[in-house]
Amino acid sequence: MKYFLNRLLRFPDIEKNQRLLLPILLSSAGIGVLLCIYGLTEAPSDTQRWMNVVSGLVLFGYFLVQNFLLKAEWHHNPVTSVVVFLLSITFVVWFNLIEPYTIRWIHLAVTTLFFINITIIMGRWWAYGVLAMVVFLLSPLFPFQIWTPVYVAWDRPLSLMLSGIIINETFHWMIKRIEKQVERLEIINQMTRSLAFSIEPSQVNSLMSSAIQSALNADTYYIGFLENHALRLVLLYDDGEFFEDQHVELENTFSGWVVVNQRSLLVRDIDREAKGLGITLRSIGRPEHSRSWMGAPLQTHEKLYGMVAVASYKVNAFNESDLELLESFAQQAAISLENAYHHQEVETRSMQDSLTTALNHGAFLQKLSEEAQKALRGAYPLSLIMLDIDHFKEYNDRYGHLAGDQVLIELTRHIQRYLKSTDWVGRWGGEEFAVILPNATIPQAWGVARRIQKSLTRMTLKDREGNPIPAPTVSQGIACFPQEADEIYALIDLADQRLYRAKSRGRDQIEAPLATSEIIEDELA
Ligand code: GH3
Ligand code: MG
Ligand code: MG
Repeated sequence: MKYFLNRLLRFPDIEKNQRLLLPILLSSAGIGVLLCIYGLTEAPSDTQRWMNVVSGLVLFGYFLVQNFLLKAEWHHNPVTSVVVFLLSITFVVWFNLIEPYTIRWIHLAVTTLFFINITIIMGRWWAYGVLAMVVFLLSPLFPFQIWTPVYVAWDRPLSLMLSGIIINETFHWMIKRIEKQVERLEIINQMTRSLAFSIEPSQVNSLMSSAIQSALNADTYYIGFLENHALRLVLLYDDGEFFEDQHVELENTFSGWVVVNQRSLLVRDIDREAKGLGITLRSIGRPEHSRSWMGAPLQTHEKLYGMVAVASYKVNAFNESDLELLESFAQQAAISLENAYHHQEVETRSMQDSLTTALNHGAFLQKLSEEAQKALRGAYPLSLIMLDIDHFKEYNDRYGHLAGDQVLIELTRHIQRYLKSTDWVGRWGGEEFAVILPNATIPQAWGVARRIQKSLTRMTLKDREGNPIPAPTVSQGIACFPQEADEIYALIDLADQRLYRAKSRGRDQIEAPLATSEIIEDELA
């Protein structure tokens, strides 16, 4: 009962539908004018003249007042709703009763106006209430007719009932559609607004995910990026579960069709349509097969990034308007992804040294500070190698600065080859480099330094004429945080001092705390 009452008193969102009432207001004005003209020119008696003029004015007046009251949000008040309900019944019955004394079709127009009006502002059940009351009051069995001078035959309430139901259902369906469209536009709008602030690809993916979840009836959806002729799924949701690290083949799949044709695709019934498109059915996520599917490419003018797809375990789960919605999600997301990637690229570049792509001085210091804090929190050591090319000035003088640049680029590449993904190499300045090795002890750092030293002998370099030239040697100094220095500048200073000790010992040397080097060299021997 309470549920029923709640439903009954929850009126449609009139703000969204108010424009629908404008034709009603204009029609009531038209009917009002017609009734006045009829009353003043054609009515056979004074009574009928006034009956028509007053009816016309009151009708128009009613809709005019209602229009103003709507703006004041009166419809949220149940009392006013009941008043509107009763007035609607009165108007419809009145115009049906005065039918013999006015323009013949006016009662039909007025009845239609009120049914539409009440469906829009109060919902379909109130409209059925009006209809039931009107049919009841106009039925020939109702004693009310005894007091009126007009006899209404059976066909009147029956035709009213029929047209009432048609009008009611049509408008109810139309309003629902409009509401759904508005809701979808709001979701797109909200997504666009949020995307404007998204500078991380992962943010874009999660926004798209929540938009799909709130706007489409999807059992399954995924967002995939093109990688080595397959789709790497950054997100896969299937029947309430998220799956990780999935790949989708592109050959003979619906996803492949979308990627190859760079067009969206709606498959209402997979079992029927797969064969026609030459698709072999495969399942991702759960083993169960989807029955309907749609996908849209994630692409901009510049690039095709991948695609987004939505599926259902029911046939005919999606229609053209769902596909349009998915397309606009994909379009918005692709633009934002492009922005996010550009942003990432700019950010990475701003941290890199332009010649060698090693971290530049500022980025290196920041990384060292972050890694030192992590090391403290994790209670593990962090080693730092400072590295300087020997006699580089002479090298430049002999082989030219371009060959020198080539050395700097190759040296960075060689260093990077011996580093883990958690290690960092930075160009400290000129021909001096620094390497951060988190979670590495001095002996481990020594091992890395030794491999760098050895790898330089295998470096292949050429002079201006294309003749092979020897690679320079490097001197390196190692220090360990926090055992030897518990602050990053002290750590750098210590590694630097050791570097210069390596230089003074004759260059092409690695300098670490004495005991370490001896132990390691013994082990190597
Ligand atoms: P040492 O063994 O004592 O380190 O001698 P060095 O000649 O390497 O040291 P010095 O500090 O005297 O000279 C550094 C040289 O590095 C000077 C400069 O020509 C060269 N250099 C610095 N930056 C670049 C660069 O970006 N490209 C090239 N080609 N050379 C550079
Ligand atoms: Mg040098
Ligand atoms: Mg130097």
